[in-house]
Amino acid sequence: MDDRAAERFSVVLSALTFIGIVVGFAAPYVGWAALSPLGFGLVYLAGGVPTARRALKSLWHERSLDIDLLMIIAALAAAGVGAPAEGAILLFLFSLSTTLETLALGRARREVEALMGLRPETALRKTGADVEEVQIAQLEVDDVVVVRPGAKIPVDGIVLSGEGEIDESTVTGESMPVSKAPGAKVFEATVNQSSVLEMRVSATMSDSTVARMIQLVTEAQAARAPSERFSAWFGQRYTIGVLAGAVIALAIFLWLGREWSDAAYRAAVVLVAASPCALVISVPAAILSALSAAARGGVLFKGGAALETFAAVSQFAFDKTGTLTTGRAEVTGIISLGMPEDDFLSLVSGLEAHSEHPIAAAVHRTANKRGLAPASVSDVVTRPSEGITGRDAMGMLWAGNRRMAARMGVDVEKPAFAALLDEAETVIWVGRGARILGAVAVADSVRASSRPALDQLREAGIDRIAMMTGDRRPVALRIGAELGLSPDEIHSDLLPEDKVHLVGEMAKAGKVAFVGDGVNDAAALARAEVGIAMGAAGSDVALEAADVALLSEDMARLPAAHGLARRAARIIRQNLVFAMGAMLVLVSGALFFELPLTLAVIGHEGGTVLVVMNGLRLLFDSVRSVSSRSAAIDAVKDVIRPQEIGRAMQESRSCGTPGWR
Ligand code: ADP
Ligand code: MG
Repeated sequence: MDDRAAERFSVVLSALTFIGIVVGFAAPYVGWAALSPLGFGLVYLAGGVPTARRALKSLWHERSLDIDLLMIIAALAAAGVGAPAEGAILLFLFSLSTTLETLALGRARREVEALMGLRPETALRKTGADVEEVQIAQLEVDDVVVVRPGAKIPVDGIVLSGEGEIDESTVTGESMPVSKAPGAKVFEATVNQSSVLEMRVSATMSDSTVARMIQLVTEAQAARAPSERFSAWFGQRYTIGVLAGAVIALAIFLWLGREWSDAAYRAAVVLVAASPCALVISVPAAILSALSAAARGGVLFKGGAALETFAAVSQFAFDKTGTLTTGRAEVTGIISLGMPEDDFLSLVSGLEAHSEHPIAAAVHRTANKRGLAPASVSDVVTRPSEGITGRDAMGMLWAGNRRMAARMGVDVEKPAFAALLDEAETVIWVGRGARILGAVAVADSVRASSRPALDQLREAGIDRIAMMTGDRRPVALRIGAELGLSPDEIHSDLLPEDKVHLVGEMAKAGKVAFVGDGVNDAAALARAEVGIAMGAAGSDVALEAADVALLSEDMARLPAAHGLARRAARIIRQNLVFAMGAMLVLVSGALFFELPLTLAVIGHEGGTVLVVMNGLRLLFDSVRSVSSRSAAIDAVKDVIRPQEIGRAMQESRSCGTPGWR
């Protein structure tokens, strides 16, 4: 049965139970009392049989006692003690809440499904002079693909020819188009706006940036939130406890000298009152809603655990380059000491051809603009936070910061560099062995959204915000000042392990979130309680080490996501307290105050519905600063597979939501 059919079936069953209830209760008043048992019978059939089937199935296949079983036993017990009407109400309300849950979750899932259609299906492959249309699954690495204006980039690749604007909002959430020239990376599902581009495929469909993100998120769904695990664990034990409790209550009432039928009625009330439906559904309803609201805004949490921990974070540490700054650096100065500037630049460009660092990209662009071909360099090794080394026909080459230069035994305190160093810009020195060849200065600007994002975090009561960079002090201080950071929260000249150490120091005062993009941030991302990677622009290693991926370039979504996580945590607490409280009241009513079965049933089901509604509120929450429907669609499309959502939702089913299969 497909999902739609399952939903319709569920609606029909609930409608039947409703008819049964109406007939059962109304018949005596219109003089057809004989019809009443027929009505209740219908409820037991339409509401009870599917529930019993599910209960037996999980008892048989998973050896687990669940709430379906409790419900069916309670309904039968009610009928057994001569209260078939109450049993029928229980089944009717149970069926109704099940159907509402199914419909709500199904709608959310279909919304995502609709977004899936936006990924292109075919691409134009060029072989020699021929151009043919092929399925994107058939594309292989190094194939050449032609992308027409207005068409989607079919897979990740590198531009070979053509220059134009690409709308990358599908991947990054950034609405400003980005201009791309030969050599630039383009991402699957982004839109080529104006010109004909030829591109070389760099990753197959299953390896694309988008696919990798999907994988990260879906893998992570296995990592359940602690409170979610608690309630699942609790649900199992508790079901057994409730069954045992009802039997014990029966025994005690009999021992107190009650009539058999009266004692059995009391035991049935206890059974209904103590059923933990609300408790079990309270956490997943909230977490699932929050995760999908976040995903809609381009913030992907690797599971509920990350969401819960994020809510408890009280300190943030940020990487600088590519995180607080745009990472789209520009070369602002070149000093070559011994060879023509163009030769020098093509040498550096050849060395940096193997690096993904923003500095490398800046060097390429400048070399490209001047029409310089990169020199051929081999044996390239990158040293995170220091630089890069390699070898050409004439020997060993290196480029990097002061630390790298010192490693090579080079003194960079030369008057020739004074002018470069006066500007608070990033400088890399280039040398051949112990001989210095020159230096390149690179300027990177602060993201427009960084300052407001940090201000919002401060307003939200975040105790401490620090910046950690491998860059030199003057640059760090300038950027930090633009962001309103105090100098003692600005840490510069760091190696990757220094970042880890500093995060560890911060962690003594409270939970830390580290936000970063680079290879040099991976260790710190893993060390922090919550690692947040800049998704589309960041490196794969960072993405893998992180717990959260920020697909958007809009830093404002970070405080928004933090707010969402906090609201989710609050709703979970509310739900747990409410569910426990309601249960306590109902159970004591059942044991000590002759609570009628009808009230127990209504209290129990009503509580469950309230808790689910409270959780689903988060679905309408948003992490986007500007709320536009299309931006919402952009961020999710292609990122999450409907069947994965289905699975996640199925896992979260507790109070008898029919399975999706
Ligand atoms: P951040 O921590 O701000 O992201 P990094 O740790 O990535 O900065 O870089 C620190 C410094 O290391 C850079 O400012 C640069 O001097 C040097 N460096 C890193 N990677 C390279 C590279 N590929 N080429 C040259 N220099 C590099
Ligand atoms: Mg960085």
